[in-house]
Amino acid sequence: MLRWHPYDGMFVCDCRGRVEHRPALVLRRTGFLARHVTPAHPEHSEDCPFARDPTEGREIVRSYRHPAGQVLRLLGPLQAIGGERHEVARVAYATPRSAVAQLLMRAVVAANIQQVRCGEDRLGLSQQYAEIRRVAADIRVAEEVTLQRVLGTNLDGLNRVIAAIEGVEPRSWRGSRPVGVIICQVDTVEPHLLRAGPERVLEVAGRISVFGESADATRRISPQTPGLAAIVVARPEANERYRALKAYVHPCYGRGDLMLVDSDYERRTLREILDTAAWMLNARKVGMTVEKPVFDIGLPVDEADAQGVRTFCIPDFVVTATDRDLEAVMDLRAGNDQAVGHDCP
Ligand SMILES: [Zn+2]
Repeated sequence: MLRWHPYDGMFVCDCRGRVEHRPALVLRRTGFLARHVTPAHPEHSEDCPFARDPTEGREIVRSYRHPAGQVLRLLGPLQAIGGERHEVARVAYATPRSAVAQLLMRAVVAANIQQVRCGEDRLGLSQQYAEIRRVAADIRVAEEVTLQRVLGTNLDGLNRVIAAIEGVEPRSWRGSRPVGVIICQVDTVEPHLLRAGPERVLEVAGRISVFGESADATRRISPQTPGLAAIVVARPEANERYRALKAYVHPCYGRGDLMLVDSDYERRTLREILDTAAWMLNARKVGMTVEKPVFDIGLPVDEADAQGVRTFCIPDFVVTATDRDLEAVMDLRAGNDQAVGHDCP
């Protein structure tokens, strides 16, 4: 991706493709790469890891760490609905992960949905939702309010979630705005609308963010390739009615399985890994665990800072042989989809 140009003393970057005027970087004496923007060298593409300043890059890395224990603030002090400008937006690993996305990741990891043990029966869909509701007792949306108290797992469960929010004693919300969450599978994403099946529809007042590294991410959420949504329910203003205010949608493995995957390409890859693992179990008696990590497994941010290197690392899959000392970390970056974490400059 980066090419050293000895005559100009700079690196040129291919993030905008093989165009005549490519974005460039120069090596500073301190050992850092700095962006070099001139008429001949434009800004890096929005998705390029070099498009951001080191401090901004550090914030992005932090947003992909597992937020151990702390309260997830799903709303700012005043939630602007966002109007027509941001109806459906694409998000990728080059952008900071929002609190609602972090909440979804924490829930699926704690509910063991991101891990498949070959040879063991996978939980059915309703049991997976039940596990999410169970682990929601350990996730807090305000100092004294757990996610479990204000969680719905049905797209048509808005009224129940509103009743649950209103059932919380007002003083428990101290310092936070009352909020609820719906976590459920969706089939299609349209501007201001989420659908599951032909009947169930939920209107979302503000932004719907869809994870996907490519621009057609929203089209990839379809009845054949569903997504898992986390929808924030709150009042836009103090005296307005509760509404679905914003949503985050991440592709999931299939209609019967909530496991998050980053793309349809990963979905197909996972199917092949599981087929191979089933064969290994039958033919070779080797048990396998396949995990799709969603949090950074790299160095702690502060430790990395001290070394002047800020990296986040989210492999596509980690395959472990359960009864042998064997682990494979899979990175599909060379495939069709650029679907893994990147090194921040
Ligand atoms: Zn670039």
